[in-house]
Amino acid sequence: MPNPAPAGVADAVRDGFVGAIGNTPLIALPKLSAALGRTVLGKAEHLNPGGSVKDRAARGIIEDFEARRLLGPGGVVVEGTAGNTGIGLTLVGNARGYRTVIVMPDDQAPEKYALLRTYGAELHVVEAIAFSDERNYYHVARRIAESIPGAVWANQFENTANRAAHEQTTGPEIYAQTQGVLDAFVAAAGTGGTIAGVARALKARDSRIRVVLADPYGSALYAYVKTGALAVEGDSTAEGIGIKRIVANFKDAPVDDAVRVDDRTMVEMAHWLLREEGLFVGGSAALNVAAAARVARGLPAGARVATILCDGGDRYRSRLYDAGWLAENDLVPAATDLSFL
Ligand code: PMP
Repeated sequence: MPNPAPAGVADAVRDGFVGAIGNTPLIALPKLSAALGRTVLGKAEHLNPGGSVKDRAARGIIEDFEARRLLGPGGVVVEGTAGNTGIGLTLVGNARGYRTVIVMPDDQAPEKYALLRTYGAELHVVEAIAFSDERNYYHVARRIAESIPGAVWANQFENTANRAAHEQTTGPEIYAQTQGVLDAFVAAAGTGGTIAGVARALKARDSRIRVVLADPYGSALYAYVKTGALAVEGDSTAEGIGIKRIVANFKDAPVDDAVRVDDRTMVEMAHWLLREEGLFVGGSAALNVAAAARVARGLPAGARVATILCDGGDRYRSRLYDAGWLAENDLVPAATDLSFL
């Protein structure tokens, strides 16, 4: 007689690529937590089937178009993206029978363009230029969508189906996985979908959970949270995070405070996480962990702080994990301990 399946295993089967999105592990970082005397928890979004937190937004946006009957068999999805949303949309599109047209600025990690081409997206790479210029990837994507009959423009910045995906899945998962014992949630914003959606879900369940934005230099959101006015200072090599304008997904997010993290801290943390915790993540994830650690340090001993591991390190092997690129950018990691925090 065959062995019976252990309880729960049959229920654990996921339905296709789309069904495999979400329900990611929440990983306590043991060495970091021990050093801080507070627990830092990373939501392992790099383990999504498309490799990033944006798989959730891609699913949410596509399912919203389907529900509104704006997208059907043979449809076309167009998006401007730093890469991860395009990857998510392309894979969800492949699974559902949609063609994807992806527009990216030309200053992102080469791995992301290569993945999109491999996955079958029609990829347009445009000059990385200010949002105010009509040649910016965002505006190019909108015009391409308008030029293709029946195509939909995902518009992850202004389309709040993005935030809703996190309000309905990421946030409730974190609350359930922590059994509601959580002091703070910390995350960077690219569109703001993750931080706004998770914040709304957590605060609806427990208004005492503190929400803190982690912002790179070159973004205007730190100043916005601190003073109410957009202001940009410095620059960053971080990909997929930092915004210079207020977009619908971030607007009205219940954010209590902001911390800023520089690129050196981000790079040191990325390499520390790989070396000490065995976690191979991208720059935004490392920046999130550094910010979460700083927030945790300001809370009483034993506090628990959750953050997002947005994507994996594979996508940045030619940059964040390349000795030549690090040297060129004066970002060679040097720390042997957590003194950079
Ligand atoms: N990290 C990376 C690597 C990303 O690509 C993105 C999405 N642009 C984010 C973080 C931020 O996610 P969100 O758009 O939900 O703010």
